[in-house]
Amino acid sequence: MEKKNIDWAELGFGYIETDYRFVSNYKNGAWDEGVLTEDSNVVISECAGVLQYAQTIFEGMKAYTTADGRIVTFRPDLNGERMENSAERLEMPVYPKDEFVKAVLKTIKANEAYVPPYGSGATLYVRPYMFGSNPVIGVKPADEYQFRVFTTPVGPYFKGGVKPLTIRISDFDRAAPNGTGHIKAGLNYAMSLHAIVDAHKQGYDENMYLDASSRTKVEETGGANFLFVTRDGKVVTPKSDSILPSITRRSLMQVAREYLGLEAEEREVYVEELADFAECGLCGTAAVISPVGKIVDHGKEICLPSGMSEMGPVTKKLYDTLTGIQMGTIKAPEGWVVEV
Ligand SMILES: *Cc1c(COP(=O)(O)O)cnc(C)c1O
Repeated sequence: MEKKNIDWAELGFGYIETDYRFVSNYKNGAWDEGVLTEDSNVVISECAGVLQYAQTIFEGMKAYTTADGRIVTFRPDLNGERMENSAERLEMPVYPKDEFVKAVLKTIKANEAYVPPYGSGATLYVRPYMFGSNPVIGVKPADEYQFRVFTTPVGPYFKGGVKPLTIRISDFDRAAPNGTGHIKAGLNYAMSLHAIVDAHKQGYDENMYLDASSRTKVEETGGANFLFVTRDGKVVTPKSDSILPSITRRSLMQVAREYLGLEAEEREVYVEELADFAECGLCGTAAVISPVGKIVDHGKEICLPSGMSEMGPVTKKLYDTLTGIQMGTIKAPEGWVVEV
């Protein structure tokens, strides 16, 4: 199969239309079997539920080429499971996770020519999503839905090298207790846009959100979970019901324990103890781990000992091990790397 003529190394993180996308419609209480289509446009009523009351959820994953030339994706069953949970919370019909995985693999396969080669650092980003499509004006869940999967090639995350981030503790809240912070829904992003635009204006890369009720505990950023390393080499991640359960973070915790022999703990993390950590990183599909060099708490700077020029040593080991597992150079736990 011939690859598209794309300068993989120069790609950014933007939308590039690829040849095929998967579409399935939910009507009269059932999903149809779905098709691949070349039509990239969505045509829905001006009064569609998604447009009026934001009934929409999504997933994010990637497909890439391993060292030995296979096209694979990483733990798609967990994305399928998470999307089931997101759907239930927003009163949307569940798209069954086995069907989800099939649809994802089918869409990647159809766009094989856009999967970047091994070593390019680029990947094919995969975006499954679902929205209420029929007219809804009285506030209630839609009766009809569309589930879609599209792909778009994206460039290497650390283009031009790793640069540790400077983040600020935000005065805005991301998620309420008993709210929707734990599901992957567009609504959580819509309300974070003002906070991130403002953070960028003030010279910060990201917002660190705190728990909304006591504002003493660390939650996450707008789109990535935190991982900390203590000065005695223990890996710590915040525990909270309003954090989105990152698949990357869950995988890294297992890598820390089973591959690196480190202690890895999910527990409440207090703002007070931030200055005691040796390393900090943000985890998510896009970067795997993005190191944080500095946290600013209302003018007070907390500089991580790992500094502003490279990843800390434990962060680096975690990063190298997980990316090695993904790329097929380190043996993966059963079911983590799924061939297309
Ligand atoms: C998607 C997402 C993450 C990262 O999850 P991964 O499964 O690792 O990609 C973290 N936080 C939020 C709010 C997210 O939406």
